[in-house]
Amino acid sequence: MPTPIHNASCKNIKAITLISGGLDSILAAEVIKEQGIDIIPLNFEIPFCHRVKKNSSQSKNRLVLVAGKLGKELKVIDVSEDFLKLLKNPRYGFGANMNPCIDCKILMLTKAKELMKEWDAAFVVTGEVLGQRPMSQHKEALLNIAKRAGLEGLVLRPLSAKVLPETTPEKEGWVRRDKLLDFSGRGRRRQIELAQELGIKEYSQPAGGCLLTDMEFSKRLKDIISHQELNIDNVELLKFGRHFRISGKAKLVVGREEKENEQLINLAKENDYLFSPDNELAGPTSLGRGVFNEELVRLSCRITSSYCDHNGKINKRIIYRMLPDKEERTLEVSPIEKTQLLSIRI
Ligand code: SF4
Repeated sequence: MPTPIHNASCKNIKAITLISGGLDSILAAEVIKEQGIDIIPLNFEIPFCHRVKKNSSQSKNRLVLVAGKLGKELKVIDVSEDFLKLLKNPRYGFGANMNPCIDCKILMLTKAKELMKEWDAAFVVTGEVLGQRPMSQHKEALLNIAKRAGLEGLVLRPLSAKVLPETTPEKEGWVRRDKLLDFSGRGRRRQIELAQELGIKEYSQPAGGCLLTDMEFSKRLKDIISHQELNIDNVELLKFGRHFRISGKAKLVVGREEKENEQLINLAKENDYLFSPDNELAGPTSLGRGVFNEELVRLSCRITSSYCDHNGKINKRIIYRMLPDKEERTLEVSPIEKTQLLSIRI
């Protein structure tokens, strides 16, 4: 048995409790709190799940609210940079889409281990349920994840503890095994019943809304990885608009509605291009990122014009500028053929 990181006596035992915002992590935290453990709710932020908005009023932020209901302040650690590195070549591969769940969990537990000493925590709690997800939640995977993170015996999964090998917190008597649960499988009935029993109403769907499990998002992500464009700014851009690969070194993103047009303007940075129809026509804002020449500027204007209101005109005037320049130029172009448009859409 490995030596516990924390020199725990039975009183005032602290546990880092990973919170994704999904129901299971909240239930796990509640079950452990019930046993008198001093929980430290921790959310690891990656650019693919909901984020704790830095400038929003705390009471409006759902994750913060969830932790608040647990009677604790939520700690948030951004692991985006490390996550992007592992995404290029995850040791245990991907799930059905671009979700490297095993590597993701190892990363988070490894980071949690680093914080245990600092926060004087004796073990780590997660909301994982045995057999709930085929890739990362079967018994061997759960045990291997803890081992790889250097936390063998120190990761307690309260919802499935009774159907998993006994952990150090149980062996040492820090928590009572008979008060832990034996959930397993993909069904949600027992979790929902427990939530009702505990009066828990605020939670998100399983996988915490991770975009990496979404097929369309994964396609766009694969495209930027294969073009060596993986960075946080480009990942943020993947969340909005229609995406077009217009050359090996350039992309165009076309807004689908007013709100997305504004989001694209907000995400635009130096050297990006912004395209929009002149005042006579209604249409989208498009953002061009990468290396542009005259031909690609024209193509981007034509793609943008394909999504403008027709208003009886075939040729449309598209205004564009390269940031940070304020000076605008105009091109009169015809919309691009639908088949060509589809052939370059990601
Ligand atoms: S679904 Fe996303 S956040 Fe959850 S373990 Fe998999 S990669 Fe990580």
